[in-house]
Amino acid sequence: MSTAFENARQQLAAAARVLKLDSQLHSQLEYPDRVIKVAIPLRRDDGRIEVFEGFRSQYNNARGPYKGGIRYHPAVNEDEVKALSFWMAMKCAVVGLPLGGGKGGIIVDPKKLSVAELERLSRGYIRSLYKYLGPDQDIPAPDVYTTPQVMAWMLDEYETITGHHAPGMITGKPLSLGGSAGRSFSTAQGGVYVLTEAAKKLGFEPAKTTVAIQGFGNAGAHMAKLLAHLGYIIVALSDSQGGIYIPAGIDPLEAERLKNSEQGLAGYAGSKKITNEELLALPVDILVPAALENQITAANADAVKAKLIVELANGPTTPEADAVLFKKGIVVAPDILANAGGVTVSYFEQAQNASNYYWSEAEVLEKLKKIMVEAFDSVWEKKEKYAVDLRTAAFVLAVERVAEAMKARGN
Ligand code: NAD
Repeated sequence: MSTAFENARQQLAAAARVLKLDSQLHSQLEYPDRVIKVAIPLRRDDGRIEVFEGFRSQYNNARGPYKGGIRYHPAVNEDEVKALSFWMAMKCAVVGLPLGGGKGGIIVDPKKLSVAELERLSRGYIRSLYKYLGPDQDIPAPDVYTTPQVMAWMLDEYETITGHHAPGMITGKPLSLGGSAGRSFSTAQGGVYVLTEAAKKLGFEPAKTTVAIQGFGNAGAHMAKLLAHLGYIIVALSDSQGGIYIPAGIDPLEAERLKNSEQGLAGYAGSKKITNEELLALPVDILVPAALENQITAANADAVKAKLIVELANGPTTPEADAVLFKKGIVVAPDILANAGGVTVSYFEQAQNASNYYWSEAEVLEKLKKIMVEAFDSVWEKKEKYAVDLRTAAFVLAVERVAEAMKARGN
């Protein structure tokens, strides 16, 4: 299977073909500006020193400072952070934010560290990289297995080193340290706004519409709760341990209670146990991948039965799978549009930090909805104009905007 970055380059190439993009701009967009690789020594609780590898990829900053999350996962690698940073640059452009694209990560299984070790590792990441970060340079945020608490340790380390307050150097912070109202569920909320627009086009009514969600973390669990609240029927959920399926519907609050208990999702009464692979092929109306990349591939795309896919995860669908889904008439709301609610509220968080004046949750959501709906409409317009799928349409919009900024800079 191709790597995430190879997939990203194929997506760029598809947009470049549609746009007849200048070949020099195209080749500049094929590479990150820089990838920084660091070794982070961690003193374990038993006194031993163990070294962990970390990355920060700064892809493109033509439109503004690099922006993107930090992932803690055993499968993190340079190719993956490069792809994720490219998608961040594209995503910020799709929703019209004055930000570029970055992404970071550490090769680690955080479930194997104590809380004190996790804190020391997070502080170590900042000690290794602080020179490259800052509100005007590069602004990290949470991603897989990183949390507001991790952001708080990172902010504290950065401010201790630099000697001044700089809340806008990182987003997804706890509210007590300058976090934004609504940030905790903003990725899912943005996904809901996009899903709602797509559902209107497809004629879905919530109470008659079934949904399967792969991944039950920040993005997936909030999505399940928000959609259930709107009346959608959540029939399947999964996490790294596997999934559950109940055709009559799952209560996401009960699923969340179980996930946080010894029993896990599998303890849900009356549920059928399914694998993550099986979840993708269920007879549902809407499929929401909200875990990791490369889940819907050439090997399983043909088995997908959903009519709409809303990508909360980054890069869950490969280009080969996209071609199969397009042929089958399945509408894919692509990651760089569907999960852009997270970075949009991160941008609001920075704006609030810069003015030291904080907004209510209602204000945040009103502004978020406006941006997401406008972005959906702009992407839909490109899809109609060029007769392409929504992903290519979103990349066309993004590449056009990034290229315009690069050209204005004389690149
Ligand atoms: P998270 O750490 O909160 O949750 C990840 C979830 O995925 C967990 O439920 C975990 O059990 C599950 N998971 C891990 N491996 C899995 C596997 N192999 N199969 C199925 N499930 C698996 O992370 P998150 O922030 O919810 O991120 C999920 C996805 O959403 C990622 O692709 C991330 O890049 C993307 N995303 C997150 C944000 C954000 O603001 N948090 C924003 C945009 C995109």
